[in-house]
Amino acid sequence: MGLDFHLLNTSSTGGRRAALHLPHQTVQTPVFMPVGTAGSVKAVAQNVLESLNAEIILGNTYHLYLRPGHEAIGRMGGLHKFISWPRGLLTDSGGFQVFSLSQLRKVSDEGVQFRSHLDGSSHFFTPEHSMDVQIALGADICMAFDECTEYPAERTRAEESLRLTIAWAERSLHHFRAHQHEVAWHAELPGRSQSLFGIVQGGMYRDLRRQSAERLVEMDQAGSGFDGYAIGGLSVGEPRDLTLEMIAEVLPLLPANKPRYVMGVGYPDEIEQYARLGLDMMDCVLPTRAARHGLLFTSEGRLNIKGKKYAEDQGPPDPACDCMVCRRYSRAYLRHLMQASEPLSATLNTIHNLAYYLGIMQRVRGSLHSNA
Ligand SMILES: [Zn+2]
Repeated sequence: MGLDFHLLNTSSTGGRRAALHLPHQTVQTPVFMPVGTAGSVKAVAQNVLESLNAEIILGNTYHLYLRPGHEAIGRMGGLHKFISWPRGLLTDSGGFQVFSLSQLRKVSDEGVQFRSHLDGSSHFFTPEHSMDVQIALGADICMAFDECTEYPAERTRAEESLRLTIAWAERSLHHFRAHQHEVAWHAELPGRSQSLFGIVQGGMYRDLRRQSAERLVEMDQAGSGFDGYAIGGLSVGEPRDLTLEMIAEVLPLLPANKPRYVMGVGYPDEIEQYARLGLDMMDCVLPTRAARHGLLFTSEGRLNIKGKKYAEDQGPPDPACDCMVCRRYSRAYLRHLMQASEPLSATLNTIHNLAYYLGIMQRVRGSLHSNA
Protein backbone atom coordinates (compact mmCIF):
# COMPACT_ATOMS: atom_id res chain seq x y z
CA MET A 1 0.00 0.00 0.00
CA GLY A 2 3.02 2.27 0.36
CA LEU A 3 3.94 4.91 -2.16
CA ASP A 4 5.51 3.40 -5.26
CA PHE A 5 8.59 5.44 -6.09
CA HIS A 6 10.58 3.75 -8.79
CA LEU A 7 14.17 4.98 -9.17
CA LEU A 8 15.36 4.68 -12.76
CA ASN A 9 18.78 6.25 -12.57
CA THR A 10 21.08 8.19 -10.24
CA SER A 11 23.76 10.51 -11.62
CA SER A 12 27.24 11.12 -10.22
CA THR A 13 26.03 14.40 -8.67
CA GLY A 14 23.17 12.60 -6.92
CA GLY A 15 20.44 13.64 -9.36
CA ARG A 16 17.71 11.05 -9.61
CA ARG A 17 15.43 10.11 -12.46
CA ALA A 18 12.36 8.32 -11.15
CA ALA A 19 8.71 7.48 -11.71
CA LEU A 20 6.39 8.36 -8.86
CA HIS A 21 3.24 6.23 -9.10
CA LEU A 22 0.43 8.22 -7.51
CA PRO A 23 -3.19 7.03 -7.35
CA HIS A 24 -4.22 9.49 -10.10
CA GLN A 25 -1.04 9.87 -12.13
CA THR A 26 2.42 8.52 -12.71
CA VAL A 27 4.70 11.52 -12.28
CA GLN A 28 8.10 11.65 -13.95
CA THR A 29 10.66 13.14 -11.56
CA PRO A 30 12.42 15.46 -10.97
CA VAL A 31 9.21 17.43 -11.33
CA PHE A 32 8.12 21.03 -10.97
CA MET A 33 4.62 21.43 -9.53
CA PRO A 34 2.62 24.54 -10.49
CA VAL A 35 0.81 26.10 -7.54
CA GLY A 36 -2.99 26.03 -7.71
CA THR A 37 -3.70 27.95 -4.55
CA ALA A 38 -7.50 27.95 -4.33
CA GLY A 39 -8.17 25.04 -6.69
CA SER A 40 -6.88 26.94 -9.70
CA VAL A 41 -3.47 27.68 -11.14
CA LYS A 42 -4.27 31.36 -11.48
CA ALA A 43 -5.34 32.39 -15.00
CA VAL A 44 -4.70 28.97 -16.60
CA ALA A 45 -7.38 26.39 -17.38
CA GLN A 46 -6.89 22.73 -16.57
CA ASN A 47 -6.81 21.57 -20.21
CA VAL A 48 -3.96 24.01 -20.86
CA LEU A 49 -2.04 22.65 -17.86
CA GLU A 50 -2.50 19.19 -19.37
CA SER A 51 -1.17 20.34 -22.72
CA LEU A 52 1.86 21.80 -20.92
CA ASN A 53 2.46 18.30 -19.51
CA ALA A 54 1.95 19.35 -15.91
CA GLU A 55 1.58 16.00 -14.15
CA ILE A 56 0.94 17.25 -10.64
CA ILE A 57 -0.24 20.56 -9.18
CA LEU A 58 -0.60 21.93 -5.66
CA GLY A 59 -3.67 23.01 -3.75
CA ASN A 60 -3.48 25.12 -0.59
CA THR A 61 -5.30 23.58 2.36
CA TYR A 62 -5.77 26.88 4.18
CA HIS A 63 -7.51 28.55 1.23
CA LEU A 64 -9.69 25.56 0.34
CA TYR A 65 -10.64 24.99 3.98
CA LEU A 66 -11.88 28.59 4.27
CA ARG A 67 -13.54 28.63 0.85
CA PRO A 68 -15.46 26.61 -0.33
CA GLY A 69 -14.69 24.35 2.66
CA HIS A 70 -13.16 20.87 2.81
CA GLU A 71 -16.42 19.20 3.79
CA ALA A 72 -18.20 20.54 0.71
CA ILE A 73 -15.29 19.40 -1.49
CA GLY A 74 -15.31 15.99 0.20
CA ARG A 75 -19.05 15.59 -0.46
CA MET A 76 -18.41 16.35 -4.13
CA GLY A 77 -15.89 13.50 -4.35
CA GLY A 78 -12.70 15.39 -3.49
CA LEU A 79 -10.55 18.07 -5.05
CA HIS A 80 -9.70 16.11 -8.22
CA LYS A 81 -13.37 15.93 -9.18
CA PHE A 82 -14.30 19.38 -7.94
CA ILE A 83 -11.68 21.15 -10.04
CA SER A 84 -11.79 18.57 -12.85
CA TRP A 85 -8.14 17.63 -12.59
CA PRO A 86 -7.60 13.93 -13.19
CA ARG A 87 -3.82 14.03 -12.66
CA GLY A 88 -1.62 14.32 -9.57
CA LEU A 89 -2.47 16.64 -6.69
CA LEU A 90 -0.60 17.61 -3.55
CA THR A 91 -2.00 19.66 -0.69
CA ASP A 92 0.13 21.54 1.82
CA SER A 93 -0.75 21.31 5.50
CA GLY A 94 -2.21 24.79 5.82
CA GLY A 95 0.50 25.68 8.30
CA PHE A 96 2.46 28.01 6.06
CA GLN A 97 -0.60 30.13 5.17
CA VAL A 98 -1.88 30.16 8.74
CA PHE A 99 1.44 31.67 9.71
CA SER A 100 1.81 34.02 6.77
CA LEU A 101 -1.76 35.17 5.97
CA SER A 102 -4.02 34.84 8.97
CA GLN A 103 -4.38 37.36 11.75
CA LEU A 104 -4.13 37.10 15.53
CA ARG A 105 -2.70 33.63 15.63
CA LYS A 106 -2.00 31.98 18.92
CA VAL A 107 0.24 28.92 18.91
CA SER A 108 0.12 26.27 21.63
CA ASP A 109 1.30 22.67 21.82
CA GLU A 110 -2.23 21.66 20.88
CA GLY A 111 -2.38 23.67 17.65
CA VAL A 112 -2.88 27.15 16.30
CA GLN A 113 -5.80 29.50 16.77
CA PHE A 114 -6.19 32.06 14.01
CA ARG A 115 -8.57 34.45 12.34
CA SER A 116 -9.44 34.11 8.66
CA HIS A 117 -7.91 36.75 6.40
CA LEU A 118 -11.21 36.70 4.48
CA ASP A 119 -13.81 37.51 7.13
CA GLY A 120 -12.05 37.56 10.50
CA SER A 121 -13.81 34.37 11.64
CA SER A 122 -12.01 32.33 14.28
CA HIS A 123 -10.53 28.87 13.57
CA PHE A 124 -8.41 26.31 15.38
CA PHE A 125 -6.02 24.09 13.44
CA THR A 126 -4.38 21.05 14.98
CA PRO A 127 -2.28 18.38 13.26
CA GLU A 128 -5.31 16.07 13.46
CA HIS A 129 -7.58 18.67 11.92
CA SER A 130 -5.12 19.40 9.12
CA MET A 131 -5.11 15.65 8.31
CA ASP A 132 -8.93 15.52 8.32
CA VAL A 133 -9.07 18.50 5.97
CA GLN A 134 -6.47 16.98 3.63
CA ILE A 135 -8.18 13.59 3.64
CA ALA A 136 -11.45 15.31 2.72
CA LEU A 137 -9.68 17.19 -0.10
CA GLY A 138 -8.28 13.84 -1.21
CA ALA A 139 -5.02 14.91 -2.86
CA ASP A 140 -2.58 12.14 -3.82
CA ILE A 141 0.01 13.58 -1.45
CA CYS A 142 -0.67 15.28 1.89
CA MET A 143 1.78 17.14 4.09
CA ALA A 144 2.35 16.89 7.85
CA PHE A 145 1.27 19.93 9.87
CA ASP A 146 4.34 21.98 10.70
CA GLU A 147 5.45 25.40 11.82
CA CYS A 148 7.57 27.17 9.26
CA THR A 149 10.34 28.89 11.22
CA GLU A 150 10.72 32.51 10.13
CA TYR A 151 14.02 34.05 9.05
CA PRO A 152 15.98 35.29 10.83
CA ALA A 153 15.20 33.34 14.01
CA GLU A 154 17.19 33.16 17.24
CA ARG A 155 18.43 29.70 18.11
CA THR A 156 16.07 29.28 21.08
CA ARG A 157 13.14 30.24 18.86
CA ALA A 158 14.24 27.80 16.13
CA GLU A 159 14.61 25.03 18.75
CA GLU A 160 11.15 25.66 20.15
CA SER A 161 9.65 25.75 16.68
CA LEU A 162 11.35 22.48 15.78
CA ARG A 163 10.13 20.82 18.98
CA LEU A 164 6.58 21.72 17.95
CA THR A 165 7.09 20.56 14.36
CA ILE A 166 8.42 17.16 15.50
CA ALA A 167 5.54 16.63 17.93
CA TRP A 168 3.05 17.69 15.27
CA ALA A 169 4.66 15.38 12.69
CA GLU A 170 4.12 12.40 15.00
CA ARG A 171 0.50 13.36 15.62
CA SER A 172 -0.07 14.01 11.90
CA LEU A 173 1.28 10.57 10.99
CA HIS A 174 -0.73 8.77 13.64
CA HIS A 175 -4.01 10.44 12.73
CA PHE A 176 -3.42 10.13 9.00
CA ARG A 177 -2.79 6.37 9.16
CA ALA A 178 -5.94 5.90 11.25
CA HIS A 179 -8.18 7.84 8.85
CA GLN A 180 -6.70 7.75 5.35
CA HIS A 181 -9.21 5.09 4.25
CA GLU A 182 -11.93 7.75 4.59
CA VAL A 183 -10.80 9.48 1.37
CA ALA A 184 -13.70 9.99 -1.06
CA TRP A 185 -12.14 7.93 -3.89
CA HIS A 186 -11.19 4.96 -1.67
CA ALA A 187 -13.70 2.60 -3.31
CA GLU A 188 -13.09 3.90 -6.84
CA LEU A 189 -9.36 3.24 -6.78
CA PRO A 190 -8.97 0.00 -4.84
CA GLY A 191 -5.52 -0.61 -3.45
CA ARG A 192 -4.55 3.01 -3.91
CA SER A 193 -4.10 5.41 -1.02
CA GLN A 194 -3.06 8.93 -0.20
CA SER A 195 0.53 9.49 0.87
CA LEU A 196 1.85 11.62 3.70
CA PHE A 197 5.16 13.48 3.63
CA GLY A 198 7.02 14.72 6.71
CA ILE A 199 8.62 18.18 6.66
CA VAL A 200 12.17 18.95 7.79
CA GLN A 201 12.44 22.31 9.56
CA GLY A 202 15.12 23.71 11.89
CA GLY A 203 15.63 27.25 10.62
CA MET A 204 19.14 27.99 9.39
CA TYR A 205 20.86 25.81 11.99
CA ARG A 206 22.63 22.83 10.51
CA ASP A 207 22.40 20.66 13.62
CA LEU A 208 18.69 21.41 14.02
CA ARG A 209 18.10 20.53 10.39
CA ARG A 210 19.93 17.22 10.94
CA GLN A 211 17.98 16.53 14.10
CA SER A 212 14.73 17.28 12.29
CA ALA A 213 15.51 14.88 9.45
CA GLU A 214 16.67 12.13 11.79
CA ARG A 215 13.59 12.33 13.96
CA LEU A 216 11.28 12.13 10.95
CA VAL A 217 13.13 9.14 9.51
CA GLU A 218 13.02 7.39 12.92
CA MET A 219 9.23 7.50 12.79
CA ASP A 220 9.51 4.90 10.02
CA GLN A 221 10.71 2.18 12.38
CA ALA A 222 7.34 0.47 12.49
CA GLY A 223 7.25 0.46 8.69
CA SER A 224 4.33 2.86 8.44
CA GLY A 225 6.27 6.10 8.55
CA PHE A 226 6.23 8.93 6.08
CA ASP A 227 5.99 8.13 2.37
CA GLY A 228 8.35 10.94 1.45
CA TYR A 229 10.21 13.85 2.95
CA ALA A 230 10.06 17.56 2.32
CA ILE A 231 12.51 20.27 3.25
CA GLY A 232 10.52 23.30 4.34
CA GLY A 233 11.31 26.74 5.71
CA LEU A 234 13.70 27.63 2.89
CA SER A 235 13.61 30.58 0.52
CA VAL A 236 12.20 32.68 3.36
CA GLY A 237 14.61 35.57 2.84
CA GLU A 238 17.94 33.89 3.54
CA PRO A 239 20.89 34.17 1.13
CA ARG A 240 21.03 31.44 -1.45
CA ASP A 241 24.25 29.82 -0.29
CA LEU A 242 22.57 29.28 3.07
CA THR A 243 19.60 27.59 1.37
CA LEU A 244 22.03 25.29 -0.39
CA GLU A 245 23.94 24.61 2.81
CA MET A 246 20.74 23.51 4.59
CA ILE A 247 19.78 21.27 1.68
CA ALA A 248 23.25 19.70 1.56
CA GLU A 249 23.06 19.00 5.31
CA VAL A 250 19.74 17.21 5.09
CA LEU A 251 19.90 15.30 1.79
CA PRO A 252 22.27 12.51 2.87
CA LEU A 253 20.02 11.75 5.85
CA LEU A 254 16.90 11.14 3.80
CA PRO A 255 16.23 7.56 2.63
CA ALA A 256 17.21 7.14 -1.03
CA ASN A 257 14.17 5.03 -1.82
CA LYS A 258 11.63 7.74 -1.00
CA PRO A 259 10.85 11.00 -2.80
CA ARG A 260 12.38 14.25 -1.59
CA TYR A 261 10.60 17.54 -2.01
CA VAL A 262 12.02 21.02 -1.46
CA MET A 263 9.15 23.40 -0.78
CA GLY A 264 8.58 26.87 -2.19
CA VAL A 265 11.81 27.16 -4.18
CA GLY A 266 12.83 28.97 -6.49
CA TYR A 267 14.33 30.67 -9.56
CA PRO A 268 14.91 28.67 -12.78
CA ASP A 269 18.62 28.07 -12.13
CA GLU A 270 17.84 27.02 -8.56
CA ILE A 271 15.32 24.35 -9.46
CA GLU A 272 17.76 22.91 -11.97
CA GLN A 273 20.56 22.92 -9.40
CA TYR A 274 18.43 21.20 -6.74
CA ALA A 275 17.18 18.60 -9.21
CA ARG A 276 20.78 17.74 -10.09
CA LEU A 277 21.58 17.34 -6.39
CA GLY A 278 18.89 14.73 -5.91
CA LEU A 279 15.69 16.59 -5.05
CA ASP A 280 12.74 15.04 -6.81
CA MET A 281 9.93 17.54 -6.38
CA MET A 282 9.69 21.32 -6.28
CA ASP A 283 6.99 23.93 -6.23
CA CYS A 284 7.02 27.70 -6.30
CA VAL A 285 4.57 30.54 -6.89
CA LEU A 286 7.32 32.46 -8.67
CA PRO A 287 6.57 31.58 -12.32
CA THR A 288 2.83 32.20 -11.91
CA ARG A 289 3.02 35.24 -9.62
CA ALA A 290 5.81 36.93 -11.57
CA ALA A 291 3.87 36.36 -14.81
CA ARG A 292 0.95 38.36 -13.51
CA HIS A 293 3.38 41.22 -12.86
CA GLY A 294 4.79 41.00 -16.37
CA LEU A 295 8.01 39.19 -15.52
CA LEU A 296 8.89 36.45 -18.00
CA PHE A 297 11.61 33.85 -17.49
CA THR A 298 13.37 33.15 -20.78
CA SER A 299 16.46 31.42 -22.15
CA GLU A 300 17.95 34.93 -22.42
CA GLY A 301 17.23 35.79 -18.79
CA ARG A 302 14.42 37.68 -17.13
CA LEU A 303 12.32 39.89 -19.34
CA ASN A 304 10.01 42.59 -18.01
CA ILE A 305 7.36 42.70 -20.70
CA LYS A 306 6.13 46.12 -19.51
CA GLY A 307 9.32 47.68 -20.89
CA LYS A 308 8.81 50.44 -23.41
CA LYS A 309 11.46 48.90 -25.63
CA TYR A 310 9.07 46.06 -26.42
CA ALA A 311 6.33 48.38 -27.71
CA GLU A 312 6.95 47.38 -31.33
CA ASP A 313 9.04 44.26 -30.80
CA GLN A 314 7.51 41.64 -33.05
CA GLY A 315 9.75 38.84 -31.87
CA PRO A 316 8.45 36.01 -29.65
CA PRO A 317 8.78 36.36 -25.86
CA ASP A 318 11.53 33.71 -25.89
CA PRO A 319 13.04 32.77 -29.29
CA ALA A 320 14.19 29.41 -27.88
CA CYS A 321 10.78 28.48 -26.47
CA ASP A 322 8.22 26.53 -28.46
CA CYS A 323 5.29 27.00 -26.09
CA MET A 324 1.89 27.94 -27.47
CA VAL A 325 2.47 31.59 -26.51
CA CYS A 326 5.93 31.96 -28.05
CA ARG A 327 4.79 30.23 -31.22
CA ARG A 328 1.91 32.63 -31.72
CA TYR A 329 2.34 36.02 -30.04
CA SER A 330 4.83 38.89 -30.07
CA ARG A 331 6.45 40.77 -27.22
CA ALA A 332 4.66 43.88 -28.47
CA TYR A 333 1.27 42.20 -28.12
CA LEU A 334 2.03 40.82 -24.64
CA ARG A 335 3.17 44.30 -23.60
CA HIS A 336 0.00 45.83 -24.99
CA LEU A 337 -2.21 43.34 -23.11
CA MET A 338 -0.45 44.28 -19.89
CA GLN A 339 -0.76 48.02 -20.59
CA ALA A 340 -4.45 47.61 -21.31
CA SER A 341 -5.01 45.42 -18.21
CA GLU A 342 -6.49 42.69 -20.37
CA PRO A 343 -7.09 39.43 -18.44
CA LEU A 344 -5.48 37.52 -21.33
CA SER A 345 -2.19 39.09 -20.27
CA ALA A 346 -2.01 37.03 -17.06
CA THR A 347 -3.03 33.91 -18.95
CA LEU A 348 -0.44 34.16 -21.72
CA ASN A 349 2.40 35.28 -19.44
CA THR A 350 1.67 32.43 -17.02
CA ILE A 351 1.49 29.81 -19.75
CA HIS A 352 4.92 30.81 -21.02
CA ASN A 353 6.51 30.88 -17.55
CA LEU A 354 5.08 27.47 -16.68
CA ALA A 355 6.24 26.06 -20.01
CA TYR A 356 9.70 27.43 -19.22
CA TYR A 357 9.81 25.88 -15.73
CA LEU A 358 8.38 22.55 -16.86
CA GLY A 359 10.82 22.58 -19.78
CA ILE A 360 13.79 22.92 -17.42
CA MET A 361 12.74 19.80 -15.57
CA GLN A 362 12.12 17.93 -18.78
CA ARG A 363 15.67 18.73 -19.88
CA VAL A 364 17.09 17.69 -16.52
CA ARG A 365 15.18 14.41 -16.71
CA GLY A 366 16.53 13.83 -20.21
CA SER A 367 20.10 14.37 -19.09
CA LEU A 368 19.68 12.12 -16.07
CA HIS A 369 18.23 9.41 -18.24
CA SER A 370 21.13 9.42 -20.67
CA ASN A 371 23.53 8.61 -17.85
CA ALA A 372 21.91 5.24 -17.42
ZN1 LIG B 1 7.19 30.35 -24.35
